Amino acid sequence: MSRARALDDADKLASHRAEFVEAPGVVAYLDGNSLGRPLTTSVARVETFLREEWGGRLIRGWDEGWLDLPLSIGDELGRVALGAAPGQVAIGDSTTVLIYKLVRAAVDARPGRTEIVIDRDNFPTDRYVVEGIAADRGLTIRWADTDAAAGVTPELVADLVGPQTALTLFSSVAYRSGFLADVEAITAVSHAAGALALWDLCHSVGVVPTELDAWGVDLAVGCGYKYLNGGPGAPAFLYVRRELQSEVRQPIQGWLGSATPFEMGQGYTAAAGIRGTLSGTPPIVGMLAMQDMIALLSSVGLEAVRAKSIALTGFAIELCDALLPTAALSSPREATRRGSHVTLDHPRFAEIMPLLWERGVIPDFRRPDGIRLGLSPLSTSFAEVEVGVRAIADVLGER
Ligand SMILES: *Cc1c(COP(=O)(O)O)cnc(C)c1O
Repeated sequence: MSRARALDDADKLASHRAEFVEAPGVVAYLDGNSLGRPLTTSVARVETFLREEWGGRLIRGWDEGWLDLPLSIGDELGRVALGAAPGQVAIGDSTTVLIYKLVRAAVDARPGRTEIVIDRDNFPTDRYVVEGIAADRGLTIRWADTDAAAGVTPELVADLVGPQTALTLFSSVAYRSGFLADVEAITAVSHAAGALALWDLCHSVGVVPTELDAWGVDLAVGCGYKYLNGGPGAPAFLYVRRELQSEVRQPIQGWLGSATPFEMGQGYTAAAGIRGTLSGTPPIVGMLAMQDMIALLSSVGLEAVRAKSIALTGFAIELCDALLPTAALSSPREATRRGSHVTLDHPRFAEIMPLLWERGVIPDFRRPDGIRLGLSPLSTSFAEVEVGVRAIADVLGER
C-alpha cells in the first residue's frame, strides 16, 4: 500500500475526498463516471431548499429566481468547465432529449444536406436518437468505424464528411475506452466540409479542461450526474454557440422557450438567445447538487482536477499491468489521449462483478467483458484505486 499512500500524501487535492457523503461498506468506489457521489453540502442545500424555498416561498419562488436557474447555472458551468462565455449554456432535460433537440435543429439548419456522421462506438442513446431522426427526415447515416483503442480521429472524420454532411456527432471521451478525442481538430474538419459539429461531453465535463468558444464548437451536450455529481437523473446541459442561436431552432416548442411565456398567447415565437432552447418547466431540485459541484470545481480549478485525473488513471494502469496480466487494457496508455476512466477486458469480468460488490468494491461493467474504473478526481484516492485493483486480482485468482 506504500506507493498509494505516498501518492495520497503528496496529493494537494486529497482533503476534498472528505467533503463527499460516506457510503457504508464501500471500500473502493470506482464508478464516479456513471454516478458521481454527493457532496455533504448538497444534503444541506437540498434540505434547506425544501424547507425554506419550496416550503416557505411556495409558488412565489418562480418569481424570485427559480426560472433563471437554467441559464444562471448554465453560465457558471460554462465559465468553470466549458470555456463558454455567458449566454450560451442552458440546463434542462436529459442528455438524450437535448441530443434530439440539437440534432434536429442542426439538420434543419443545413437544408439540402442529407448526411449525419457518427461513430459506431458512440454511446447507444446518441446512436439511437440519430437513427430515429434520420428515419424521420429521410437522412443517411455515415458510420465511422473506430478502432476502439484509437477512437475518433481527424483523419477518420475527414474520410467521411463531404458536401452532403449536415452534422457530425462524436463524444469527447469515448464511454467505453476512455479515448479523448481532439475536439478542436475534428470540429475544424467538420467545418471544412460545411457541416456543423455537435459534441457529447458526458464523460469529459468536470474532468477534462474544455474550451468550446476557442475551439469553434457549434453545439454540445453533457450529463449532470457523472463528474458533475448532480445525482441520479440530474438534468443535462446544452451549449449553442452565440452566432448560431438565431439560425438553430430546436423542435420542442414549449411555453418556457417562447418569447412571452406568461402571456399564454396564440402561436409560438421562440425566445431570443439560449432561452429559446428551453421547453418546459425546469427541474429545479435536480440542479441543486450540481451547483455545489460546480462551485467546488471553480475553487479547485479544472487544470488541477485534470492533473489528478491523469495521475489516478496512470496509477490504475500501472497496477493493472502488475496485478492483472491476463486482462487486456482497452484504454489509451498515452495520458493526453485518455479521459478519467480506464477500461480492462477479461472474459470472466461479468461473472466476478457480484463478488466485487460483496466486498464493497464498485467498478462499472460494460458488455461484453469490460470493467471500467471511473476515477472521479475529487472523490477518489490512490489507496482506493489500489484496493479496487487488488480485489479484482484476488477474486479472479480465487475462482
Ligand atoms: C451517460 C451518457 C449519456 C446519458 O444520457 P441520459 O439521457 O442521461 O440517459 C448520453 N451520452 C453519453 C456519451 C453518456 O456517457
